[in-house]
Amino acid sequence: MIQYALICDEGHQVDSWFQSASAFQTLSDAGHLSCAVCGSAEVRKAVMAPRVATRQAETSQTPRSLSKTSTEEEKALQALRKHVEQNADYVGREFAAEARAMYLGAAPDRAIYGEVNRADAKALIEDGVPVAPLPFVPNRKTN
Ligand SMILES: [Zn+2]
Repeated sequence: MIQYALICDEGHQVDSWFQSASAFQTLSDAGHLSCAVCGSAEVRKAVMAPRVATRQAETSQTPRSLSKTSTEEEKALQALRKHVEQNADYVGREFAAEARAMYLGAAPDRAIYGEVNRADAKALIEDGVPVAPLPFVPNRKTN
């Protein structure tokens, strides 16, 4: 299908669809074209590029997947988890006590991670103990 903007001698412009350029020409040559507004037979193509409708134009583009971003975030999270698990000692529920002991110099400095309840975490931060929440729930080691 081809769309032409047709214009009559009165200046009415109407968009019309034709099967093909030759179909338009045939109708035009036979005098079968007339203005949809005033009925004038003096109809010609307006000076504009025809729009060609194709199946491809109707097919909407596949929306960009959002899964890529989340996968990369997951990868970063997994890398962080691996780093923490390889470089820090899991102390579980003893985290608050261990962190405080290290902060006070009562225990040697080492990297630890574990679990702490909200009240203990608040108390640690208020006391200036350098702790940070992990963006994941640590694996509980049995040993
Ligand atoms: Zn007209």
